[in-house]
Amino acid sequence: MTDEPARPHVLSTRAPQVRPRAEGWTQQKDAEGRPLLQFGSPKRGKPPAHLADLTPEQRVAKVAQLGLPGFRAAQVEKHYFTHYTSDPAQMTDLPASGREELVAGLLPPLLTEVRRLQTDRGDTVKFLWKLHDGALVESVLMRYPGRITLCVSSQAGCGMNCPFCATGQAGLTRNMSAAEIVAQVVRANRLIRDGGLGDPRGVGHDDERVTNIVFMGMGEPLANYARVLQAVRVMTDKKHGMGMSARGITVSTVGLVPAIRKLADEGIPVTFALSLHAPDDGLRDEMIPINSRWKVDEALDAARAYFDKTGRRVSIEYALIKDMNDHAWRADLLAEKLNARGRGWVHVNPIPLNPTPGSVWTSSEKPVQDEFVRRLNDAGIPTTLRDTRGKEIDGACGQLVATEADAEAAEAVSAS
Ligand code: SF4
Repeated sequence: MTDEPARPHVLSTRAPQVRPRAEGWTQQKDAEGRPLLQFGSPKRGKPPAHLADLTPEQRVAKVAQLGLPGFRAAQVEKHYFTHYTSDPAQMTDLPASGREELVAGLLPPLLTEVRRLQTDRGDTVKFLWKLHDGALVESVLMRYPGRITLCVSSQAGCGMNCPFCATGQAGLTRNMSAAEIVAQVVRANRLIRDGGLGDPRGVGHDDERVTNIVFMGMGEPLANYARVLQAVRVMTDKKHGMGMSARGITVSTVGLVPAIRKLADEGIPVTFALSLHAPDDGLRDEMIPINSRWKVDEALDAARAYFDKTGRRVSIEYALIKDMNDHAWRADLLAEKLNARGRGWVHVNPIPLNPTPGSVWTSSEKPVQDEFVRRLNDAGIPTTLRDTRGKEIDGACGQLVATEADAEAAEAVSAS
């Protein structure tokens, strides 16, 4: 543990230090007693192959295999990525003969909606989806002035074992396919088009769709690297995909350093976010078990390298937890570490923790939050306290975990 350093300018009367620990569940440990990290996806039946898993060339080949001319692939792409439909009855530009087979071969169903929760105003919607093998994942759709953000899942469960995180408690069920990731966006766009995302005008929206994607739902995106990248390619492809701006897509990680460096080399300028949560290894080793592999300085070096390669300013995510990581000296240490790597390359997003049900871990108090933000801003690090939208429906980051009630609802859907 790194003790609070002697800093004469710190007002602190030595605020208590709460230790991270799992509550009401047992963290799985490896042979040496360290929190278990699961990188590989457990072997389960693969989800059905789908258009969005394939490159444009592979789609043409697949259509040819199904006995139709290759150009039909582009028509199916348009229906799925632009009109958000996988219903052959709506694809009247395709020949009636062989249409059902073509659509069944390219657009097999991937997500069954089990439950949908929304806030009173309807401007935040949480979806619970069942995948083909019964695994449950969630996405959260949020309307803000001037943008619509979808928080997507990239894995069923998560193998990173962070003690404060509801998703991590369950371990990793499996990686999601690229098409399962993309399908969350397609389904959200369908809902928006049909007027299902609250709007003061209360009308459907042909002209609106998801503008921003954050990979902050279930899972560690960079532990499912190839499929997440394929999903991002589909989201950003202007000709064969959804044509979204890469800048509107945020890929986050708890710090898989080699994957961060690889991402920087991809030439896709997505926004990159590092979920840091502590600037000192002593605390971060306990909060974010991946820190036992790659330390704070290595993660920050990789984040800075991401900026150097892409020119995209990096976000540092920091869940503020009362008396655990919200000490003033930690704000100063964070600023020091970021400034040591240059100016203008980073901004910090502290977000008050959304405690999981029954947790003794709570969000930092408002004056503490404000002091944390003030110190970083005063040190020249642009810092904005983030919205905790989704909290009221249990859908904010780190809370995306399917409960037993969800599982029961999923069974009811299967039975129906
Ligand atoms: S905080 Fe993120 S990386 Fe950690 S267990 Fe939860 S979902 Fe996984």
